This record gives sequence, structure tokens and C-alpha cells, in this order.
Amino acid sequence: MVYIMIDPGHGGGDPGASGYGLQEKLVSLQLSKFLYDELRRYEGVEVDLTRWNDQYLSLDQRCDLANDTDADLFISMHCNSFSDSAAAGYESYVVYGARDYMTNAARKQDILHKHAMKLLKEYGVRDRGKKEAGYYVLRYTRMSAILFENLFITNQEENKWLADKDFLTKMAQAYAAGIAEAYQLQKKADDEPGPVEEELQEYWRVIKDGEEVGVFDYKPHAILSGSHAARAGLMYGEKTVTITYERVLRANRGKKEDPALQEEMVTSSLP
Ligand SMILES: [Zn+2]
Repeated sequence: MVYIMIDPGHGGGDPGASGYGLQEKLVSLQLSKFLYDELRRYEGVEVDLTRWNDQYLSLDQRCDLANDTDADLFISMHCNSFSDSAAAGYESYVVYGARDYMTNAARKQDILHKHAMKLLKEYGVRDRGKKEAGYYVLRYTRMSAILFENLFITNQEENKWLADKDFLTKMAQAYAAGIAEAYQLQKKADDEPGPVEEELQEYWRVIKDGEEVGVFDYKPHAILSGSHAARAGLMYGEKTVTITYERVLRANRGKKEDPALQEEMVTSSLP
């Protein structure tokens, strides 16, 4: 069983680069979720994301998540940016020295970069090359780690593709095909996503003004708790209180959350 940790770059108060109203943190998250979905079509692979939501994570936390779970491969998803909007293209990074010595990470980089460029060539995207850098997540992860700069968010044409879910799905398929080649993974016979749904348990997070105040496995209890929290806030002089109920599906093992099923949110605001 090979274990892939996908790291959507940036998040929360750190939006990353932006261009034409699009933020890097959201592109990296969307692409990572699509890659998670694609990889679930293969046998013999476990996948997790360092973040499933638009939340802030330190670089340290990202490395810890991969190191503590003994991931085999760490993939950090980013977009490039530059002050000159003419800058464009695709590039990937492994840690300094990795290409000189053709480490395991560099060999995986070769394969994934090749698959991504095979797709990107159809769009006329320039290959800026397989590079090395001293990025924190490349230095402090103990497994093979690759950082991908998925096009320039500041280039108008590439920005348009990054905003397009069909394009990001194709990118995710290219990465999944690369990972499958690198680890000799086979597609599941029925080509269906794994049995994750059956293992999932529903619970509800109650969030007051951005802070979690309780977790319940029964929705009415969550709502009761939320209205108590709202009333208490107003009694103590807060002018507005926002209570959010977030439905989360978590595998019984306690580790995996299903990204496709976590979107449902109800927000109620009291006057
Ligand atoms: Zn970035």
C-alpha cells in the first residue's frame, strides 16, 4: 500500500498569489481534491490531504502531517506568479541536490512532470523545467517530496484555465496517471471510487464567529448548542453572532474526511 499526502498550498489568511480575482489557495485546494478523487479509482493507494478546507496551516504542520503518517510521497500544489503578466509555463521542484543524485524524489518528479506536460502541451504551455529549490516542505519532509507550480495565475490565458474545473480535473487525471506509473498502480476493476462512504460517520461542528464551540453526532443537538451559544453571546453584549453548522463526514479510523461531502453548510445570523 502506497500512501500519498497531497498538500494544497496556502489557505485561510494566506491566500498565496492571486490574479484576475482568482486566489492560489483555492486553485491548489480544488486541484488537490480532484487528485484525491482520481486516485481513489486505483488499487493499493491511500491518499490524504494536509487540508480539506480553506484553513491556514503552517509549513511545519504540513510536514508533520506527512512525517507522522509515514507517507511515501508528498506532493505540494501551487501556482506561479510574476509581476510581468507575460510570464507563463509549468515547472516542478525537488529539494536541492536531488536531481544531481537522481534520488527517488527526482525519479518520481520525472514521471509526474512528464504526465502533466503531456496534457499541457495540448494547450501550448511552455515547459519551464524540472528544478531544485530549498522550499521548507521539500527540506523537512522525510519522504520523496515534489512541489508543483501549476501555471501562472498572473498570466491571463493560464489564469482562465486555472479557474476552469474541467481543466483542473484533466490536470488531476494527469497527476494520477503519473502516480500510477510511478508506483505501478492498477485501476479498480469497477473503476468506482473506494468504499469510503460506507465507513463514514456524520457529525456536526458548531462554529460561533469562526471558532468551534462543539461537535455533535446528532444534528438537533448541534442546533440546540448553536442557539444557546448565540443567545449567550447576545446577552453578553455582542451585536451580531454568526453560528455556522458544518456537516463533516469522517471515516471510522478517524483520519479521512471525504472532501466531496463536506460542503454542506448552514449559516444563521441573529440581528
Ligand atoms: Zn504558492
